[in-house]
Amino acid sequence: MGKSKEERIKKLKKKRIWPSVVGLILILCVFGIVMASALGLSGMDIVQRKLMDSSRKSVKVAELFADYSSETEEKIEQTVLAHIDILEEIEAVSVIDKDKKPVWSSGDEYPVMDDNIKMEFLPGITEEEIRVIIAEDKSQVFTLDDGKIIVNQEALENIFSESEFDVAMPFTQLKLWLVIPVNGLRVMVLNNIPIYFQDFMMMGICILLCALLISIFVIYYLISIISMVSSVRRTTKIIYTDMVTGGDNWLSFIKKGTKLLKKGRGHRKYAMVHLEMRKYRSFCTCFGVNKGQELIEKFYAALKKEMKRHEVMAHQENAEFGLLLVYTENAQLEERIQRLENILNAVLPGMKVYFGVGVYWVSPGESDVEQVYNNAMIACEMLGEEAENKIAFFDVEMNNQKLWERKVEDDMDRALLNREFQVYLQPKISTLDERLGGAEALVRWIHPTEGFIPPNRFIPIFEKNGFILKLDDYMLEEIARVQAAWLAEGRKLVPISVNVSRAHFTREDLAEHICAIVDKYQVPHSMIELELTESAFFDDKKVLLNTVQKLRAAGFPVSMDDFGAGYSSLNSLKELQIDVLKIDADFFRGADVEERGLLIVSEVIDLAKKLNMKIVAEGIESKEQVDFLTEQECDLIQGYFYAKPMPVAEFVQKYDS
Ligand code: C2E
Ligand code: CA
Ligand code: CA
Repeated sequence: MGKSKEERIKKLKKKRIWPSVVGLILILCVFGIVMASALGLSGMDIVQRKLMDSSRKSVKVAELFADYSSETEEKIEQTVLAHIDILEEIEAVSVIDKDKKPVWSSGDEYPVMDDNIKMEFLPGITEEEIRVIIAEDKSQVFTLDDGKIIVNQEALENIFSESEFDVAMPFTQLKLWLVIPVNGLRVMVLNNIPIYFQDFMMMGICILLCALLISIFVIYYLISIISMVSSVRRTTKIIYTDMVTGGDNWLSFIKKGTKLLKKGRGHRKYAMVHLEMRKYRSFCTCFGVNKGQELIEKFYAALKKEMKRHEVMAHQENAEFGLLLVYTENAQLEERIQRLENILNAVLPGMKVYFGVGVYWVSPGESDVEQVYNNAMIACEMLGEEAENKIAFFDVEMNNQKLWERKVEDDMDRALLNREFQVYLQPKISTLDERLGGAEALVRWIHPTEGFIPPNRFIPIFEKNGFILKLDDYMLEEIARVQAAWLAEGRKLVPISVNVSRAHFTREDLAEHICAIVDKYQVPHSMIELELTESAFFDDKKVLLNTVQKLRAAGFPVSMDDFGAGYSSLNSLKELQIDVLKIDADFFRGADVEERGLLIVSEVIDLAKKLNMKIVAEGIESKEQVDFLTEQECDLIQGYFYAKPMPVAEFVQKYDS
């Protein structure tokens, strides 16, 4: 699979789930941090505000001692006690002098001033500062830093969590002594700050709203992530599902196959098998495309059942399947393939289906499934299209043939432009006087690097890819040009035949097309003979009959090439009126059948004569054959006995009369 294709598929599958997950985590983190700090800050703020409020009140109370003396003592005492009564936060007041001797106290309470605390808080106190002595039990809640009261959040949270919820009751009380230096005295005010849940009501509502918001976000994200995951799953499934069989598709085959080949390297022998049903298109024509697809589905199911561990198979296209099979021995694999064919045959009871199978033995270390499958396909292609059960095993020669086909196709256009195709002429000799009676134009490719290439190495390829149409036109034009030149030089012309491939008979204006080419050179039509093969009959018969009629009406002799080779039928002679019958060389080959062949030849000649046709015998190599044909009154003989096809110049030299 190409890199870019792989990338595209990966992109399709990885449908951006990670950004969502990361987004969700980020959102949660950000919310968490914001919430925690908001909570912390606002919690601390509430406590701190209460604390500041209470310390302001404490300072006010402490300031009452500003003019403390024995005279004012009583008045101050009353005022202070009244303050203590009224102010919820202030519980007690004690006053000590510089030497820490008690001066006055609202009760028995004094701060615990053990040495440690003193050490910690008292040294270096400036007169103006309010200092805090922290009550023993809550000492962890507050610390003092540079004159400010700092609330320890963690300790505060502990208090919250340990407290029992009761809106009316304070869930905790923060007790602390504030030490306020006043007029050389130290006024110590015991603050007892009650903290209610109510104090945190607004904050609680905010927390709830935020939590709700976060939940909505989280739910939304979770839903979108879940739907994304399922859509990725669906996409992945679609990517790897074959639309005809509903099973694994080709992509999946390549993926799984590559894995298997890599894993099985060294300890499992693999064979890649290309299996195709013959005449699938005809089946669809007869029974409909839907039935055809149903059939493929059934084939797939049947084959799938036969797959073992470490094997994989998939539908490719039409009625073609790829199977990556484990084998132990070649014969065992062959047997297994035959069994698979039988199983597939059982899918269609009462109907015989045929399969073409191409096998490629995968070498250890090979893991390019597409390449390997291509080789299996090449092997199968070599079998042709016949309706037979056949297995072909890939060999290097097949690959060479494919490479050759590629080369031919790459070079053909350039070759035509560069006039690399050359006309060779093979004489047809008259049996009457052994003189030149005609010739056949045969093409040769003089390739700049490959050298001389005979037509059997490229004509079949051109017939497959359609280039034969251009080549035949070229040959026809070359012959028209040669004949025109000879005519101009005053030479006596003989009819030269050109081959008209069956591919031409798809165009209805073929006769006009041929006329146009020949007429460019003003050559008499009778001097250009057109050879067509019977196989053209298998295509559009109407076009063939029409074209032949028009060509003959225009004065072109028409001959039937290779009569007797392949699917020859006398019937075609009945329908097709032609001028020349070219008897195929096959009749004269093979000693054991020669006698029967000659008998048929003599009958065919007889028949052709009665139908008013001229006879040309092809591929004649011996004197005996010439004598026999002369005796049978065959008109012309073409064969190595007289001459091989030769370049035009040589032909002129040899047969110039
Ligand atoms: P074909 O049209 O039947 O041409 C006759 C073939 O038999 C030629 O092979 C010729 O060289 C060969 N031949 C002639 N006498 C003898 C003989 O005594 N013994 C043997 N063994 N062979 C003999 P060639 O030139 O190799 O052409 C092969 C085929 O390629 C032709 O068969 C024809 O079907 C095709 N072909 C050649 N040139 C063209 C062309 O320009 N257009 C088309 N469409 N086909 C062409
Ligand atoms: Ca021919
Ligand atoms: Ca022939």
